[in-house]
Amino acid sequence: MKLPVYLDYNATTPCDPRVVTTMLPYFTEIFGNAASRSHAFGWAAEEAITHAREQVAALIGAETKEIIFTSGATEAINLAIKGVYETYTTKGNHLITVATEHKAVLDTCKHLEKQGAQVTYLPTDPEGFIDLAQLEAAITPQTILITVMYANNETGLIQPVKQISDIARRHGVLFMTDASQAAGKIPVDVNADGIDLLAFSSHKMYGPKGVGALYVRRKSPRVKITAQLDGGGHENGMRSGTLNVSGIAGFGMACELCRTEMPAEAARLAGLRDRLEQALLQLEATAVNGSTAHRLPHVSNLSFKYVESESLLMGFHKSIAVSSGSACTSASMAPSHVLKAMGLSDELAHASIRFGLGRFTTEAEIDYAITTITAAILQHRAVSPLWEMYKAGVDLDAIPRNRH
Ligand SMILES: *Cc1c(COP(=O)(O)O)cnc(C)c1O
Repeated sequence: MKLPVYLDYNATTPCDPRVVTTMLPYFTEIFGNAASRSHAFGWAAEEAITHAREQVAALIGAETKEIIFTSGATEAINLAIKGVYETYTTKGNHLITVATEHKAVLDTCKHLEKQGAQVTYLPTDPEGFIDLAQLEAAITPQTILITVMYANNETGLIQPVKQISDIARRHGVLFMTDASQAAGKIPVDVNADGIDLLAFSSHKMYGPKGVGALYVRRKSPRVKITAQLDGGGHENGMRSGTLNVSGIAGFGMACELCRTEMPAEAARLAGLRDRLEQALLQLEATAVNGSTAHRLPHVSNLSFKYVESESLLMGFHKSIAVSSGSACTSASMAPSHVLKAMGLSDELAHASIRFGLGRFTTEAEIDYAITTITAAILQHRAVSPLWEMYKAGVDLDAIPRNRH
């Protein structure tokens, strides 16, 4: 077994070797510019793009014309939200999103607020779900876009996307979703799910970094967006810039592999995830963050009371790679805004660890992780004065809720 064991697949994934094989010819032999219409070099590159576009569209049930290639989900999200805002600004200036969204969504909304947008940030319940009645009540005649992520990157929680899109449709409001964590992992279908715009990313699904796509619905309704990059008019004028042919070919292959292997992969990973989670839940004062009923099959976010997860992770940086419930800001470690929005205290957020399993995770790695993490937590608590007080029956718990 190679150490450290990688259990941070929500942050990024390694390229599948089959993806790399697909990409290689496009660096040297088939190096043409897909926009060169006058010779075979350009045609060959364009053919690769056309094929990849079919593979990408097929993963989410879209038409090829509805796919705009971008540099990743961050760019796709910016294009979608700013592009809709600029196009529909005569209709209204109100956007609705959720406090637990990825920073790519939240920071884009913040940017638009400075330009006059009104943004509603819906809260969530302790499991991370939005309240559908609250969503509907937030809609005003000025509302032009509802954006809610398909699955959360920290907890794996899956939002009721179909119910959300039904509400959006009923009020004639566009519905966008950040599906960076869901696409390729669970079935996502833009028509069945009623999605108008969808952003996703190659490097979260065993493709190369720096590639992603935005799906933009072309009929019922036909969604219009304003381009954010001007130039040669690539991607139907929606995203100028020479296409990253090798990256897009790899992304296409990654989508095809996910589409065909998803059922078996999801079942295998759910089994390993449950084995890890059940073993770690044997530890006292440990809880799952987020819904266990509606969750990505490969994700587990756990809090271990009275354990400072950052210092714990430092302790096993040579053995296991995972993420804590903290985010590095310029100055310090801030507790995760997602866990905070779900009602966790700062202490409990800092006591949380996110496990993300993936295609190359083995049973041996999971068993190793169980042993290593269990030992580390017992050791941590053994020297913790807080843990000692807790064990002595002193009520240190600032959390009024039982988090199971
Ligand atoms: C990774 C991620 C993004 C950003 O994707 P990039 O392709 O890295 O820009 C956005 N949203 C979610 C939920 C993510 O997990």
